[in-house]
Amino acid sequence: MNKKRIAIIGSGPAGLASAIYTSRAEIESVVYAGEEPGGQLTKTTEIENYPGVVGKTGPELMVEMTGQAQKFGTEIVYETVTELKQEEGKISIITNVGNIAKYDAVILAMGASPRLMGVGEEKYWGKGFSTCAVCDAAFYREKNVYVVGGGDSAIEDAWALTKFAKSVTILVRRDEFRASKIMQKRVSDNPDKIKVMWKTNLKGILGERVEKLILDVDGVEKLVEAEGLFFAIGHIPATSFLRDSEIELDSEGYILTQSAKSLQGETLKVEWPTMTSVPGVFGAGDCVDHRYRQAGTAVGMGIAAALDCERWLENL
Ligand code: NAP
Repeated sequence: MNKKRIAIIGSGPAGLASAIYTSRAEIESVVYAGEEPGGQLTKTTEIENYPGVVGKTGPELMVEMTGQAQKFGTEIVYETVTELKQEEGKISIITNVGNIAKYDAVILAMGASPRLMGVGEEKYWGKGFSTCAVCDAAFYREKNVYVVGGGDSAIEDAWALTKFAKSVTILVRRDEFRASKIMQKRVSDNPDKIKVMWKTNLKGILGERVEKLILDVDGVEKLVEAEGLFFAIGHIPATSFLRDSEIELDSEGYILTQSAKSLQGETLKVEWPTMTSVPGVFGAGDCVDHRYRQAGTAVGMGIAAALDCERWLENL
């Protein structure tokens, strides 16, 4: 019997967990690593909340996951998938370098990328603006920095910055955080380290580098001196290449798997919880999940997608 071939798009925790399972089940598995091999975890330092992993960094964990998948025969291709379509009972994919390949099934695990605001920030990449405090905090020694956002990431980023910066201020657009209580406590317990400006929206950035921020503080314009600006305002799923495909997405671009649709209250028979609207194409991780977005949950979803995929291929 011919070996079944599967493509896994994305090389973060979800994609690699899928690959470990499918290649171990002797399905020929190809991982397309995409623009950011290893995914978002490669931008973190020490991992504290992944069960059983103590004293390791995000990049170290991803190197180990990749090696574990390769040990079972997974092939890693350092290309980005730009198109996916159904063709003669197969799923055909095209990559950024024009390579075309056909597979019996596909697992979509492309993750998500940081949301931007469109206030001219892109001009300041590497000039005082970043979306990854954990990666860039050390560049802001003795600087006055601002973090935009009100979720766990904003507080985590602000906390990372306190180790280096002279002052750290979080700009929150509402009068309360969205972050969990335990993270909020980090701010309330350390008023000398982290300041908060409530009901504050960033309107613009001035200077050759980030030098001044134009803020709207409860309807009043204010100019503040700043040497660093970090965004932590959520993520956008990396699904734009699927917009013209038959894969159903929600209004924010997250992939609608059968279980995601049923969670939205749609009455459908959930036979393959991780399958998308296209038979044989499954979804896992942050490109499906806008709620939990943890490495651990992504791994769980990746495994579930691999098991669904394996059984679906057997049933063909
Ligand atoms: P999030 O929970 O979606 O929070 C995004 C924050 O950005 C919200 O406060 C939101 O404001 C604000 N925001 C969005 N667009 C904005 C804009 N245009 N201008 C100003 N503010 C804007 O995203 P997250 O903080 O990245 O967290 C994502 C998930 O990862 C969450 O489930 C979180 O619990 C988890 N996480 C956990 C940890 C941890 O436990 N250590 C660390 C990081 C992330 P509103 O509240 O007004 O909507």
